Amino acid sequence: MQARSDLIRHYGKRIAFVPTMGFLHEGHLSLMEEGRKLGDELVVSIFVNPAQFGPGEDLEAYPRAFERDCELSKKKGANIIFAPDTTELYGREFQTYITLEKLPNHLCGISRPVHFRGVATVVTKLFNIVRPHVAIFGKKDYQQVLVIRQMVNDLNFDIEIVGAPIIREADGLAMSSRNSYLTPEQRTSALSLYQSLEKAQTLVESGITDAAKIAGAVSEFVTSHPETVIDYIAICDSETLADMQTIDRPALMALAVKIGKTRLIDNKILSPPH
Ligand code: AMP
Repeated sequence: MQARSDLIRHYGKRIAFVPTMGFLHEGHLSLMEEGRKLGDELVVSIFVNPAQFGPGEDLEAYPRAFERDCELSKKKGANIIFAPDTTELYGREFQTYITLEKLPNHLCGISRPVHFRGVATVVTKLFNIVRPHVAIFGKKDYQQVLVIRQMVNDLNFDIEIVGAPIIREADGLAMSSRNSYLTPEQRTSALSLYQSLEKAQTLVESGITDAAKIAGAVSEFVTSHPETVIDYIAICDSETLADMQTIDRPALMALAVKIGKTRLIDNKILSPPH
């Protein structure tokens, strides 16, 4: 991969990179479309990264469809699909990790303490192997985009990071490989994530700017659906992720909810009333 990238760079071409864990859906494909616009060659990686799963999480169960993913990626214009296996990437003696001081102390980092260490480490490795000029990440994983941007700045990676919009099903459910775990009843409950973000925006527009009140209303709405357990509902600064008390400027509303055994996330920027 490094040799291929060096050759592409030697010819003065731009490499766009979309890292994924596979089981591709329209969300991933939208990143590839963006990548095609931003680079001459598009590299897509497919790798289920063990380092970002904690004990008891769904590493073994994570859905896989390698052949289909290759077809879809090629159709979207991927020139190279990089799909290493775990021993190739981590070997037996792996012991170097990237950790961030502040951003992981919020949102998903609290209930998934090793997650962002695993993400930052694998993305660093993939950047060093793929050597892209630009990499595209989805804002569905909003905190992840912040973590990668911070890491790229802090460690002087010469790579442009692009955050792409959340792609949703027709009824609003954010696309996710993990949606495949849901039963039809659970899928109905899962819709409450998107619906509660919309509800929150309506409340803000009606003049309610107290973050605790809005989070309370959202919590009540989500838990009125079967099989839901809230991990977090946060209304916070969109850069630092520090909690906000009043929505007097655009605020990130992010939530993580377990529907049965499936943990789903979603988010939206809430705009203050005009
Ligand atoms: P994953 O395969 O879940 O690790 O995701 C790979 C990339 O796709 C990440 O940058 C995600 O943020 C992005 N992604 C996943 N779901 C969506 C979505 N519904 N809309 C936009 N991007 C997404």
